[in-house]
Amino acid sequence: MATYLRYFEQRRAGLVETIRQMAEMESPSFNKAAVDLLGAWLAARFEKLGGAVRVAAQPWLGNHLQVDFPASRAASRKLRPILLLGHFDTVYELGTLAKMPCKIEKGRLYGPGVFDMKSGIALMLHAIEALQVELGGLPRPVRVWLVTDEEVGSDSSRVMTEKLAKQCAAALVLEPSAGPRGALKTSRKGVGAYRIRVTGRAAHAGLDPGAGENAIVELAQQIQRMVAFAEPKRGLSVNVGVIRGGTRTNVVAAEAVAEVDVRIQKLADAARIDRKFQGLRPVNRKCKLEITGGVNRPPMERGAATAALLGQARGLAKEIGWALEETAVGGGSDGNFTAALGIPTLDGLGGVGDGAHAAHEHVVIEELPRRAALIAGLLSGL
Ligand SMILES: [Zn+2]
Repeated sequence: MATYLRYFEQRRAGLVETIRQMAEMESPSFNKAAVDLLGAWLAARFEKLGGAVRVAAQPWLGNHLQVDFPASRAASRKLRPILLLGHFDTVYELGTLAKMPCKIEKGRLYGPGVFDMKSGIALMLHAIEALQVELGGLPRPVRVWLVTDEEVGSDSSRVMTEKLAKQCAAALVLEPSAGPRGALKTSRKGVGAYRIRVTGRAAHAGLDPGAGENAIVELAQQIQRMVAFAEPKRGLSVNVGVIRGGTRTNVVAAEAVAEVDVRIQKLADAARIDRKFQGLRPVNRKCKLEITGGVNRPPMERGAATAALLGQARGLAKEIGWALEETAVGGGSDGNFTAALGIPTLDGLGGVGDGAHAAHEHVVIEELPRRAALIAGLLSGL
């Protein structure tokens, strides 16, 4: 680990440059052309390191990217690969760079997507390069799987993520780390999304109020019920994040919609919360309720396999005097899918920083070398 650390300390500027190049290729989830440009750039970088690139073409979103690296020794080629998992879409619309350009200030690199998670991809590239080019090859096969729809729910990539992960021995997720000390994420909440649409009946609020059925009033009552589904002690939360409804003050509202975010800590709560949402019935029987959605990411529970993997990472970190921490977070990632399949999963292995999805998004440059060393160490030690 000390050798790796020295190696990456000497190449810190190169790491920063890779992140900057990626951040300057904007890649909003819903802009296929922009995402594919970055995808092609990434494919070329990985190919140059000896990876076999396979593009999973998508009609509307950016193409997902699979890169397989063989082990250098024939005897190790049959080993199941280590999966390096991530995404290269961001939440920022095209043109964001003009408002938040890449810049280095007080040892931090700022820019859209540098933390979530272009620094993570740069760590993958440089860790593989270190093993491949400088140290004579990979001790075991490595599979890189980068998706383009993580920020919008991973609908188009989930099945492939699960299929590819099942063939792997462990999943290392290079999503941003947690907190100023860069803790790994060993448990994440599961995520659900629901949409509740109320249909009432329009009427003139002055001339004939009795003829209407107010969808907003109905929705307001449903919101009270949904909010009561939350069980904070179980780690189950419900957030009504968006409401819409009505047309004018003098019209009884014919329609109203609520969009709700649900988080769960235990897999068993997925069915439980779903039953509750599906069980909602109108208070005003003349209104109609339409409930869509469900739990789309299972929680990442900290199983024994993940704990063992964490132990290995901690052992490696200790070699360079680094007390690696772990934490539980509320946000989901594609690591939720791999962990739910029982694959040892370590998440939050990416950059250290702050401001994911915000104007002050940045990574701490000084932290990059030891993060890269840890990835290289894990790839050679697992
Ligand atoms: Zn992310």
